[in-house]
Amino acid sequence: MRHIAIIGSGPAGYYSAEAAQKLFGDDVCVDMIDRLPVPYGLIRFGVAPDHQSIKNVARRYEKVALSENVRFVGNLTIGTQVSIEELQEFYDAVILATGAPLDRPLDIPGADLPGVFGSAAFVGWYNGHPDFAEADPPLDGTHVVVIGNGNVALDVARVLSKTPDEFAGSDIVLHAYEQLERAKTEHVTLLGRRGPHQIAMTPKELGELGRLERAAPRVDPDDLPEEGADALLEPGMRKSVTFLREFAAIPESFRADKSIEIDFDFFAAPVRIEGDGKVERVVVERTELDAELRSRGTGETYTIPASLVVTCIGYRTPPIEGVPFEHGRGRFANDEGRIMPGLYCVGWAKRGPTGTIGTNRPDGYAVVDLIAEDIGEGGGKKGRAGLDALLAERDVDVVTFRDWKKIEEAEAGRAREGSPREKFVAIEEMIAARG
Ligand code: NAP
Repeated sequence: MRHIAIIGSGPAGYYSAEAAQKLFGDDVCVDMIDRLPVPYGLIRFGVAPDHQSIKNVARRYEKVALSENVRFVGNLTIGTQVSIEELQEFYDAVILATGAPLDRPLDIPGADLPGVFGSAAFVGWYNGHPDFAEADPPLDGTHVVVIGNGNVALDVARVLSKTPDEFAGSDIVLHAYEQLERAKTEHVTLLGRRGPHQIAMTPKELGELGRLERAAPRVDPDDLPEEGADALLEPGMRKSVTFLREFAAIPESFRADKSIEIDFDFFAAPVRIEGDGKVERVVVERTELDAELRSRGTGETYTIPASLVVTCIGYRTPPIEGVPFEHGRGRFANDEGRIMPGLYCVGWAKRGPTGTIGTNRPDGYAVVDLIAEDIGEGGGKKGRAGLDALLAERDVDVVTFRDWKKIEEAEAGRAREGSPREKFVAIEEMIAARG
């Protein structure tokens, strides 16, 4: 029997478990450990609440979770309650599928002022992550600056701009729904330090900004390259840029009855955030591209008022003591997913924060192939019996998948009309809901 522990129950973790089942059949026992009492990681806490169709992939993960040889062990923190070394003693392979939940820091003066939020905190707040439920971002001002030109920046801009009605069918948590309902936002400025041809936004997500009830995007036509240059872009990017061209052509008459403007400021790098005890403005330097298409400052600056700044500039994986780490790239040091025989990483913990949810599938399958090479038939380890004995000795109360199904049912039972669930946002509430 092969014993595998997977730390993290998001997409990368579940695809790895699925791959292990497919490859080893009944000859594998997988324990999927999560520090939270609820599974699915990024699907629950990262994917935007108004993107329910993306969240449906959790049904596929549930099939894996409900199979005989896979077990969910929630509410267990590796590193404090049980160490990696202890897991390695019990399991033939330990896979780190811990994602990249920390914000890449924005290294400019003023970035620590109250009112500056990383996207992990802001997205975590509207998605009900227990770590950020109390974040309370200031939404009583008219101007918000969103830094970054990726899909997370788009999610944040869209969520800030939607009317309460536009959240119908979403699972945005009540505290965020109510606070957004009272928000005074009139301007959301998306700062991109490079140009329209260098965005990291995908067409579906970008297109959504053009169909909002009370908000309209604005792109300065002067920022757009010659139209002919779009032909050199790969098709997805070309489609995204086509949306930017459409936004640049929106007539003023269309904007007249929109109360929120979403401004794309290209060639604009934040250099300083200022304010008296809290964020009040962002000082931005105009940029140009160098020969390698990197941004460089021109020395010309301008100022945007802001009572809230959300940085959406990428994420990092938290290091784990004793596990080799690449600090520059914010991920575990690994060779195609192998950190060392017996210890592996997948998903964002392996690659850094890039790609879609589906990108994690080949990652999961590839890492299980490496594990098969390294562990053969398994080394006669204790597996889950060893972990359970240790947990009993330490009096650790874990949450099972069956418990999760009760939590899920309770969340569905208290949902607002039309919403699939009202998430519990405190760990104690989640645990209480299992009965
Ligand atoms: P991302 O795609 O890497 O975008 C990060 C953005 O931040 C880039 O525009 C980058 O500009 C900019 N940036 C980085 N450092 C900066 C700095 N110091 N100052 C100003 N700008 C800076 O990251 P993400 O938006 O966090 O998304 C992470 C991953 O999740 C991506 O693969 C994304 O596609 C995926 N995702 C997908 C969806 C979806 O499919 N619906 C939704 C959300 C996220 P440069 O290009 O100049 O570095």
